[in-house]
Amino acid sequence: MKFGGTSVANVDRIRNAARHVKREIDAGHEVAVVVSAMSGKTNELVGWCEEASATYDNSEYDAIVASGELVTAGLLAIVLKDLGLNARSWQGWQIPLLTDDAHGSARIAGIDGGKVIDGFASRQIAVVAGFQGLHARTGRVTTLGRGGSDTSAVALAAAIQADRCDIYTDVDGVYTSDPRIVHRARRLDRVTFEEMLEMASLGAKVLQVRSVEVAMVHKVKLVVRSSFDDPADPKPGTLIGDEEDILEQQVVTGIAFSRDEAQLTLRRVADKPGVAAAIFMPLAEANINVDMIIQVVSDDTTTTDITFTVPTAEYARAKAILEERRASINYATLQGAQDVVKVSAIGIGMRSHSGVAAKAFKALSEKGINIRAITTSEIKFSVLIDEAYTELAVRTLHSLYGLDGAA
Ligand code: ADP
Ligand code: ASP
Ligand code: MG
Repeated sequence: MKFGGTSVANVDRIRNAARHVKREIDAGHEVAVVVSAMSGKTNELVGWCEEASATYDNSEYDAIVASGELVTAGLLAIVLKDLGLNARSWQGWQIPLLTDDAHGSARIAGIDGGKVIDGFASRQIAVVAGFQGLHARTGRVTTLGRGGSDTSAVALAAAIQADRCDIYTDVDGVYTSDPRIVHRARRLDRVTFEEMLEMASLGAKVLQVRSVEVAMVHKVKLVVRSSFDDPADPKPGTLIGDEEDILEQQVVTGIAFSRDEAQLTLRRVADKPGVAAAIFMPLAEANINVDMIIQVVSDDTTTTDITFTVPTAEYARAKAILEERRASINYATLQGAQDVVKVSAIGIGMRSHSGVAAKAFKALSEKGINIRAITTSEIKFSVLIDEAYTELAVRTLHSLYGLDGAA
């Protein structure tokens, strides 16, 4: 069972989480729990790092931001004991949950479920601090990137061969789109791993992308559900599983959006072999992730325009790298935009249906929304548009594919 920030926002909420745990114990299950920091806590800690120094050391950042989860793990263990249960808290390094040394966004290298399993013999509930791990060689605490408690929970579930990993949050499941933006979004009963992976990578922040990857690889049955349900009478939530488990396949399952996009356009680049490499190799070497790419032939046919997107945080760095190489790449002008958003539609049904994206292009144009770039893959397509049209575009596509529920 994993409880996110709003589910452990204060001691009252932690008591409520404990009641969900007790229900599962009373039903005869063996339970391990992973907790996030109280909502807002991690942001506060990050803010303090930034206040301390603009060039803070990433390993100290991890030492600081990992502290939020330590508090909630201890508090949940206390209130579980008050309910007459046997419980103890675990910090990431005590498990240990081992990671690489990419401080701030470390990847899990291994996790030992032994101590948690040993506790089951005395009906002990392990309450594990999420989001954090240990880099073995340096002995330093690491964190798994924002939203990383989801990944801690799924990895622990895999390590102890749990039958299920329940992610308790502030919504009662995965929706056809972010319920904060689309009021007519509907809860999905079931979603495939692949769809969830796309939805999470394309902006649906309900689960950290890596948690879905780990669940998919280790075949951990994931359930997203609400801690705000009555602990005595919880609703089923959304099951994320294999394709075979999903009976009814829709063409489009969900609409996601990401504001974390910036656009760069190089005008009148010489149209000859090696140009794309000259542009994208230096960006790759600088670890800048390029997403959408479009190349168009200019009027004069000897030059071309190339547009692509990078994460907002990398915009300035990418621009500087290209400006430095203006002579060697040989382009006329470099333009950029940060007020853009990527809107995506996801569904495994797209594999067997044609014209799904074309329908969207028409619907968006009828609303006067200009598409700056497009990408497609087997089970999704994305369009880059002006950020001002985010809500309109998301709601338009949501209706277009018949996803609207009752208002
Ligand atoms: P937690 O603190 O429990 O980890 P998060 O804030 O990380 O919770 O994730 C839950 C939030 O994800 C919801 O409140 C919702 O606004 C947002 N969200 C975005 N897209 C979706 C979606 N498709 N389905 C459900 N929730 C979504
Ligand atoms: N507390 C961490 C964060 O806010 C990890 C998590 O909540 O999953 O990013
Ligand atoms: Mg989260």
